[in-house]
Amino acid sequence: MKIGIVGAGMVGASAAYATALLGAAREIVLVDINPALASAQAEDIAHALPFAARGQVSAGNYAALDGAALVIIAAGVGQKPGESRLDLLARNAEVFRAVVDATLTAAPDAVLLIASNPVDVMTGITTRLSGLPATRVIGSGTILDTARFRHLIGEHLGVDPRSIHAYVLGEHGDSEVLGWSSARVGALSLAEAAANMQAPITEAVRAEIDRGVRGAAYRIIEGKGATFFGIGAGLARLVSAIGNDERSVHSVSVLTPEVVGIKEAPVSIPRLIGRDGVVADLMPALDATETDALAASARLMRDLLASVAL
Ligand code: NAD
Repeated sequence: MKIGIVGAGMVGASAAYATALLGAAREIVLVDINPALASAQAEDIAHALPFAARGQVSAGNYAALDGAALVIIAAGVGQKPGESRLDLLARNAEVFRAVVDATLTAAPDAVLLIASNPVDVMTGITTRLSGLPATRVIGSGTILDTARFRHLIGEHLGVDPRSIHAYVLGEHGDSEVLGWSSARVGALSLAEAAANMQAPITEAVRAEIDRGVRGAAYRIIEGKGATFFGIGAGLARLVSAIGNDERSVHSVSVLTPEVVGIKEAPVSIPRLIGRDGVVADLMPALDATETDALAASARLMRDLLASVAL
């Protein structure tokens, strides 16, 4: 599969690097408003290929996206001093208007995978701007938060996180909802598995894991200025799911017709992902507290999207 990545900064380059190491795409094309950066990233990543997998990494303009089956959008504009979140959103919407248009002119059949923040609202904006079916515009959403949740549960239980089936739902951000009640380890409920492993999930453990998941981005940004390896691997995992028509389950953001009674909200729930994007929504059972929290998160994302003039 040929893929494109628009925005060759830390996130875009990390996604390209992880995709190259996984061998998940035959050809990767990097596009950036700064062509020298895109070229340098492509050359550097191409030098990893002899150690990993067959493939091709290059830089180009939008026309070079011709034939791409998937395009990741990781282009970002930073907040200016004194600028409100809404002003930033409005500017991001303007950037996306040009980027989405140019991308779809070159690669009209591509599935779009959005990484730029605020990722849920940008996914909703892209869906509206592109006129594509919502199932073809996927935000990385809570894929990273889900990974952080599984990692911390795994550490607590001493279990490989790949054997933990637990999801973070809602916004990729402060209002996200950790799906404790539906979490499974193998085929056991989390409580059963924790009892089995003699590592009960006490209130204190829950609070610690919640803090660990919710505060991860803040901690990492404090220490190194940005987060990119985790999301790069998550994006590469989605490239593989789409490129190989895996029909595997991932928590990703989509402009959702209705979730827990809230309409037209761009939020994450677990979804089946295949060649054309989202194949089906796989909403887990939630307890009352989780349902209320997800409704609040969805309301927030719906209203934020509605506040952006397109
Ligand atoms: P970065 O500044 O390193 O890279 C952004 C790149 O976008 C730059 O290279 C810039 O030149 C390019 N760009 C800007 N405007 C462009 C345009 N009009 N066309 C093409 N390229 C353009 O930033 P980063 O750390 O790579 O982050 C990128 C985005 O990803 C940010 O919005 C960030 O908040 C977001 N992010 C998302 C997640 C997630 O979980 N979804 C995680 C981390 C970061």
